[in-house]
Amino acid sequence: MTFVREAAACSTTWLFPFRHLVSVVAAFVSEDGWLIDSNDGFQRLCDIGDASQAHRAADYFILPTFKQLTAARSEAGWAIYQGVINIGKDENSCRSLIGKVHRDGSNLILVAEFDVVEMEMLNTQLVRLNEQLAVVQRHLRTLTLTDPLTGLANRRHFEEFLQKEYLRIQRSGSDLSVIMIDIDHFKRVNDLYGHAQGDEVLRHVAHLLSKGTRKIDLVARFGGEEFVLLLPDTNIEGAVTCAESLRKSVRESQPAALLDPLSASFGVAQYLTGDTTDSLLKRADEALYTAKNNGRDCVEACVS
Ligand code: GH3
Ligand code: MG
Ligand code: MG
Repeated sequence: MTFVREAAACSTTWLFPFRHLVSVVAAFVSEDGWLIDSNDGFQRLCDIGDASQAHRAADYFILPTFKQLTAARSEAGWAIYQGVINIGKDENSCRSLIGKVHRDGSNLILVAEFDVVEMEMLNTQLVRLNEQLAVVQRHLRTLTLTDPLTGLANRRHFEEFLQKEYLRIQRSGSDLSVIMIDIDHFKRVNDLYGHAQGDEVLRHVAHLLSKGTRKIDLVARFGGEEFVLLLPDTNIEGAVTCAESLRKSVRESQPAALLDPLSASFGVAQYLTGDTTDSLLKRADEALYTAKNNGRDCVEACVS
């Protein structure tokens, strides 16, 4: 600031060392509020595109106001103001700086730097907001992959998982099987007991399927009263055994509201060389169709 006092005598040459700094704000302002000269930091903060044009710098002094500054007096050579200076084009772009305002004849000299404490506070806030954003993003991702009625993975999640597993087995050569499941005569459940009880049965079956499978398996609601299971590292025999055990658990269960026995049909297929994800699903679906035609409440496998 001593430098500023001395340099002020030779008009805006004092601005020279600050000219291209953006962390320091320096401006020379006429008593009637016009910008005589300023450095890059000031122009950036006040969004001044062309500094050679006339600018009302007085409007950029938010607190203290320009009026307060021009009214201030000091002993010769001392700052007329020092401390926090709020500057900006408007209240939204306003930033708190720490600095001094000197008088050079009737003109004012401003030299200030960004408030490090405020920057640290903003940084802490930013880190916190980023953490909150990450939580919201994770939550949104979960929502987009979850079936709201049963809490199982939805079809989109299943398709993403299947695609990943498909790529993995191309490299590893390990087994992969799919089981398609469709609740038998589910329309009757809705018709006899109402839609709400139908929903309850869907949650009930979802629970049985989750309970009866491994952590590495994916259980998804494929749509309506259809479910699909993806079983990594499982061949057709393993998948049929799993499907049979799930079929039994559905058949032997008794959802509270139902008087009739509950059952489901199962179609099983294993990945075969040359399969696409679509052809694998199609074969599991064909097996399910066969199970329905064979009287329901049974497991069918598509072996070729
Ligand atoms: P099948 O043994 O041949 O599979 O007969 P189904 O009655 O189970 O099959 P159908 O396709 O005729 O009927 C399926 C029913 O599932 C019709 C539809 O209203 C019902 N449904 C689909 N989604 C939901 C749901 O989210 N909640 C309830 N409660 N019912 C649903
Ligand atoms: Mg169906
Ligand atoms: Mg059905």
